Amino acid sequence: MERLGFVSASRFDRQERFAPLGAEGQARLARSRVLVVGCGALGGALAQSMVRSGVGTVRIVDRDIVEESNLPRQVLFEPQDIGQPKALVAARALGRVGGPARIEPHVRHLDGELLRELAADVDLVLDGTDNLATRYLVNDHAVERGRSWVYGGVVGSSGLVFPVVPPAGACLRCLFPDPPPPGALPTCDSAGVIQPAVAAIAALQAGVALRLLGSPRERRTQTKSRLIELDVWSLECHGIDVPRDPDCPCCARREFSFLDADTTGEALSLCGRRTVQVRPSRSTRARIDLVGLKARLATVAQDAALLDGLLRFRIEDITCSVFPDGRALFEGTDDPLRARALYDRWLGS
Ligand SMILES: [Zn+2]
Repeated sequence: MERLGFVSASRFDRQERFAPLGAEGQARLARSRVLVVGCGALGGALAQSMVRSGVGTVRIVDRDIVEESNLPRQVLFEPQDIGQPKALVAARALGRVGGPARIEPHVRHLDGELLRELAADVDLVLDGTDNLATRYLVNDHAVERGRSWVYGGVVGSSGLVFPVVPPAGACLRCLFPDPPPPGALPTCDSAGVIQPAVAAIAALQAGVALRLLGSPRERRTQTKSRLIELDVWSLECHGIDVPRDPDCPCCARREFSFLDADTTGEALSLCGRRTVQVRPSRSTRARIDLVGLKARLATVAQDAALLDGLLRFRIEDITCSVFPDGRALFEGTDDPLRARALYDRWLGS
């Protein structure tokens, strides 16, 4: 999408008056390129913040379509957008903001190859994704290439923010060496989520982003490896400095197993059955606690039952069968992208 409209000298006046940024910082923002991974609740808010702040190029990648249940949190979407690809709708909405940003939407499933392509020339990657497999992939890429990224995650009323600024500081795997098996953690689809939590976490990520992009390159590495946990319901906020793990498989041993392997799993349409099979990522393959998963899905799933060693349940028009090895069948769709997205939402890969 082309640059839109004339930008007057006064557009960014208030940002330039903010001393840590100033006119030089604003000029750096205008020369910057950002990749926003995922364009749901967090990603939409992040993309909007980057465009409004005057970042030069905002690249957005998302494989999902707009659903009615997105509207309470996903600020770029309106009822008439339901059923359309999120990345394209977001780019249209952001185009109406005007300003200097070049907005580039991509309706794709992000795997290692696509990440290398889309992130090749960016200064920063912002995490607006809903699944851990993609975050470990982004972390591998960022450490390998010395590129900064900002982790963000929200469930319920709380969330986490963690900037990764290689080669200085800790990376995601210094903090959480391995992702948990699918189904082990609550997701927004099992535990719910409220909009203020999304807004708060996106704001912290965007603040880190502006600071990184607006600072001279040599000062970016002074960003602390600090994990922030914030709860908008209890008003509790914690921060811990994360030390670098001298034996971290990623940033110390430089093993990029998520980037090298098929870490985002496979989604395969089963011919003639209107069914898609999804396999978990290779790096997270572990036995799934089906009893725990059934309990976590109790409020959203219908007809959930453990039968013959597998968990079967229905959500809306899709019937899902989950096997103990993490494999799942989605009946009612022949779209691998949709099944892959539902897998990440319901099982939290
Ligand atoms: Zn590390």
